Amino acid sequence: ATPTALMAGTGRGAQLGILLKGPEVLESTRKADTIVLDKTGTVTTGVMTLTAVHLADGASREEALRLAGALEHSSEHPIARAIATAAEEAEPSGALPVPEDFANVPGLGVQGIVEGHAVLVGRERLLDEWSQQLPPELVTAKEEAEAEGRTAVAVGWDGAARAVLVVSDAVKPTSAEAVRRLRALGLTPVLLTGDNKAVAAAVAAEVGIDEVIAEVLPEDKVAVVQRLRSEGRSVAMVGDGVNDAAALATADLGLAMGTGTDAAIEAGDLTLVRGDLRVAADAIRLARATLGTIR
Ligand code: ADP
Ligand code: MG
Repeated sequence: ATPTALMAGTGRGAQLGILLKGPEVLESTRKADTIVLDKTGTVTTGVMTLTAVHLADGASREEALRLAGALEHSSEHPIARAIATAAEEAEPSGALPVPEDFANVPGLGVQGIVEGHAVLVGRERLLDEWSQQLPPELVTAKEEAEAEGRTAVAVGWDGAARAVLVVSDAVKPTSAEAVRRLRALGLTPVLLTGDNKAVAAAVAAEVGIDEVIAEVLPEDKVAVVQRLRSEGRSVAMVGDGVNDAAALATADLGLAMGTGTDAAIEAGDLTLVRGDLRVAADAIRLARATLGTIR
């Protein structure tokens, strides 16, 4: 009788948009007491738009957008797409210069050479590494944007930090409801992100999460999941990005957003086809109910 109950469970799962990697996945839903939620693309839409450009004395908006946009054009990060799109729209020809050199610095930003200028785009920390400090007026602009839950991206060229680009990403309308449902199942939500603490705190407050782990480099997401597990917690995790894949594989139960990257989907035990976080709660409830029928 057990295979029948299992199939009834997974058939209903398929209707809800839940794909299970195998029956053994069900067991890990029983113990899960913690659910780690990636921020960008999981709790938020991950579709960012450029909302403001702040400039240091003497810098031009056109130059800031062209240099930053040229580098971001080669990056697949949601922040990069927002900046590249806005930069293309600002170009009279509609085309951005092709960088002479480009490197992605995971979790920090991008760097390269554009039209002979050495350009850095990303977290303040990336510019700090090159001794490029934001001038006071840009520090203020950055802090104000972050207090509103937006992401501030620093841009440096010719040896100095010269602009702050503000991008923002909306919380999915279903995320707060999803967090309520997960709590009702006895799971404690934890927000995990590479983004800064102010943005993370604003998103967490909006959806009702108390535990926030921010400014985590992509390779350290695994370590966060391992630490939570070593504290005796049974950890489910929901993520969508290449950055999340290793952590999803390390979690007791990895749930991948079907709208996310192939790397995350391959690493997960379970896929939420429509990218709706509420379905994470449905999946856990359904899996537990299926186990109940099997026993
Ligand atoms: P998340 O965990 O929220 O998906 P990431 O680890 O991908 O975030 O990135 C962490 C932070 O690094 C971003 O919030 C951003 O500040 C910076 N960053 C990463 N990639 C880029 C990029 N291509 N351009 C600008 N900033 C970037
Ligand atoms: Mg993400």
